[in-house]
Amino acid sequence: MEISENISLQALHSFGCNEKANYFAKIDSIGAIEKSIQWAKEKNTPYLILGSGSNILFTKPFEGLVLKMEIMGIKKLKETASEVFLEVGAGENWHHFVIYCVQKGWGGVENLSLIPGTVGAAPIQNIGAYGVEAKDSIESVSAYDTQTGQVITLNNADCKFGYRTSLFKKDTNRYIISSVLFVLQKQPIFRTEYGAIKEVLHQKNNKQPSLEAISNAVIQIRSEKLPDPKKIGNAGSFFKNPTITKDLFEVLVAKYPKMIAYPITDDTYKIAAGWLIEACGWKGIQKGNVGCYEKQSLVIVHYNNGPGMEIYNFSEEIIQSVLTQFDILLEREVVIY
Ligand code: FAD
Ligand code: NAP
Repeated sequence: MEISENISLQALHSFGCNEKANYFAKIDSIGAIEKSIQWAKEKNTPYLILGSGSNILFTKPFEGLVLKMEIMGIKKLKETASEVFLEVGAGENWHHFVIYCVQKGWGGVENLSLIPGTVGAAPIQNIGAYGVEAKDSIESVSAYDTQTGQVITLNNADCKFGYRTSLFKKDTNRYIISSVLFVLQKQPIFRTEYGAIKEVLHQKNNKQPSLEAISNAVIQIRSEKLPDPKKIGNAGSFFKNPTITKDLFEVLVAKYPKMIAYPITDDTYKIAAGWLIEACGWKGIQKGNVGCYEKQSLVIVHYNNGPGMEIYNFSEEIIQSVLTQFDILLEREVVIY
């Protein structure tokens, strides 16, 4: 294991802020995780795990050890008449894994095409899009527990998955995910009801949906609507969609009949955070190096290589204006350091 010093984090996260880390190492095996955590503990220095850096904002230098996850490999562990079980290294690229499954004809993750990041980060916030979540295809997660020094396997229920959250997001940095075991379907159920998927399939004259057609439709919709992090710094949705009570929903919808909301339970509603932000007038607004993306208000974009704190302060202004206008406190989805 090689530890470098004074490393720039700019190319290692999708906001591209010009911050540095005191120490940096790549980890490509469980042995390397053990050694690097031991090193950090002996030096009494903090550590953090980095995948592709597409859901993280550095607001200051990281005074500790950054561990870049590079455990690779896709291994078929079991196959039945209806299911395939794949163990995938945490450092594998998520979208490549999705395309691998689509090409094999194994369903479950096709609606999650083109989400940036690594496989190991997928369970962290239980990535989701177009009505599908990673948890729907996760059988178990293997992780190094930094508290006990043991490699453990957590089954789906142990991971406490929720809406863009999990055990791992709540207890950040305790578990270092080394691999994920997925269960894919050989007779897939096509999920085309959400967003514009059906419309795109129709435009393309795909009367019989297929995994490939759904994946391509999602790729097309996402490419048209979301900024490419290689061109403009961003981390996707900056905030989570809030859940509010039915009482507050009824007050707000009477005042704002166009508010985008979806019932979650008999007593709660999910509100599209992008709609709230747009209603506060933020869509397309730029301040200094930072802006609210003109095609999707939920995305904060970073135009130049300004400091991460500028992005954080911009997000704080958005939170305050939504709170003032709607009495709803937005929660950041992006992990802040
Ligand atoms: P990083 O940003 O590197 O890390 C995120 C967090 O996970 C950090 O706390 C980090 O410490 C931790 N972590 C990473 N790897 C490990 C590991 N192996 N073990 C333990 N902890 C780890 N998200 C969605 O849910 N749905 C979307 O549709 C979506 N669309 C996006 C679109 C764009 C354009 C962008 C830029 C982002 C989008 N995201 C979306 C957010 C992001 O892609 C996901 O959260 C992704 O899973 C992050 O992966 P990463 O490897 O880049 O994680
Ligand atoms: P969209 O289709 O314009 O929808 C806006 C919001 O309404 C979404 O946040 C979505 O919630 C919700 N929604 C739409 N249809 C719904 C339905 N039938 N039932 C319940 N909720 C519904 O959203 P978008 O910005 O183009 O994104 C499309 C998908 O990609 C969404 O699932 C979104 O979460 C995902 N995405 C996530 C990120 C990220 O960084 N987290 C970035 C880009 C896109 P949900 O978000 O709960 O699905």
